[in-house]
Amino acid sequence: MKILVVGGGGREHALVWRLGQSSRVEKIWCAPGNGGIAAEAECFPIDPGDVAALVELAGKLRPDLTVVGPELSLVNGIGDAFGQRKWPIVAPTAQAAQLEGSKIFSKEFMERHNLPTARRYGTYDQASNAYAALEGLPWPLVIKADGLCAGKGVIVAKDRAEAHDFIERALEKNELGPGGRRLLFEETLQGEELSFILLTDGQRYAPLVPTRDHKRALDGNQGPNTGGMGAYSTDELLPVELRDTIINTIVEPTMHGLAADGIRYQGFLYIGLMLTDSGPKILEFNCRLGDPEAQAILARADFDFAEALADVAAGRLEPRKLKWQTGASACLVLASGGYPGKFATGKRIEGTAAAERVSGVKVLHAGTRQQLAANGSSEMVTSGGRVLGVTAAGRTLNAALSSVYAGAEQIHFAGMHYRKDIGGHVMASRGGTAA
Ligand code: AMP
Repeated sequence: MKILVVGGGGREHALVWRLGQSSRVEKIWCAPGNGGIAAEAECFPIDPGDVAALVELAGKLRPDLTVVGPELSLVNGIGDAFGQRKWPIVAPTAQAAQLEGSKIFSKEFMERHNLPTARRYGTYDQASNAYAALEGLPWPLVIKADGLCAGKGVIVAKDRAEAHDFIERALEKNELGPGGRRLLFEETLQGEELSFILLTDGQRYAPLVPTRDHKRALDGNQGPNTGGMGAYSTDELLPVELRDTIINTIVEPTMHGLAADGIRYQGFLYIGLMLTDSGPKILEFNCRLGDPEAQAILARADFDFAEALADVAAGRLEPRKLKWQTGASACLVLASGGYPGKFATGKRIEGTAAAERVSGVKVLHAGTRQQLAANGSSEMVTSGGRVLGVTAAGRTLNAALSSVYAGAEQIHFAGMHYRKDIGGHVMASRGGTAA
């Protein structure tokens, strides 16, 4: 098989890494890829949002399978464009991707099919109406921009001032871009979050191993929201009873809802859950693998990933083929100084080879690129906010965390920062201490 992977972050490096381990795979291309992916796949500098350019590329390369990472390609219709040409692809259609691309579409879908989710208070496109609606609502209040906003479209506002500021930035100053022109107000749910991701061919589905990510920049879940500072997976996140509840009250009704609405869904369906006192409730759908959840999930994959994805594209997924290493895994994100605010790029990265000498560690690249050094050799430098994801599986969560932290200690670039407590609260609840 020759496979084209679309995207250029840590998730896509994880996809390339696992696909490359399949004996069926003879060639991997990636668009655009990054500094680390370039060592494992031939890269083409194409913007993942540019579906026409991706169609042109695939027309030349003729991949046996295309696997899509980022939501922008999906929302812009790569699934439809390839589907019309009968080119095998793992990607939901643009309509299906509205489950992520429009929070209001998604909320209406959940309401229509009686899926457990936060109660909707209203939707607004006029600032004056949105300000007026704040009267009488309980705090904290969740406000979501309808469209894609690069992870900046949701606020859990603790008071009126915060809500007012967000509404003003979205609806009056247009600071969130077109995705922020409509807002959804909803109830704040309390509990622990859990990422539950399915692989589906539209009819059959296979749940991937459960993960939890860490969105805040700083230890103890402090500081601003980020794209994700780390993730871990362990079966202990999902006791059998909880798993059954999620399958029965959320997954099955979601699959039926998709079918009832005539939405063909082929690919990864990410269900972000809040485990509330009254049961699991849906926070959001994403139409793709999460990042860095994908890194932690794929670290535990123990099956032929290329074969499973080809089966999905052909509409013949066999869920029992997806097998997982028992135990746990973790991915620790090493970020640029200042991220998620302003940060500099072009900082030289050292120590990734030493990190990979730590048993079981794989360094997955996100914001990196190769450049020519002064002495004529090539060197790896930072090119984004999230730079590397140090990833490992282990027999226990402690073992996986020990490996990723030992790996991280080998790596250096100016300004590098990372969280010290990935997976920490699980360890604390067992009486251990955070790594
Ligand atoms: P979303 O993009 O909808 O998942 O929102 C991003 C993050 O905001 C989630 O991972 C939650 O931490 C938080 N969030 C979203 N909706 C709610 C809600 N209704 N109640 C509490 N937190 C929420």
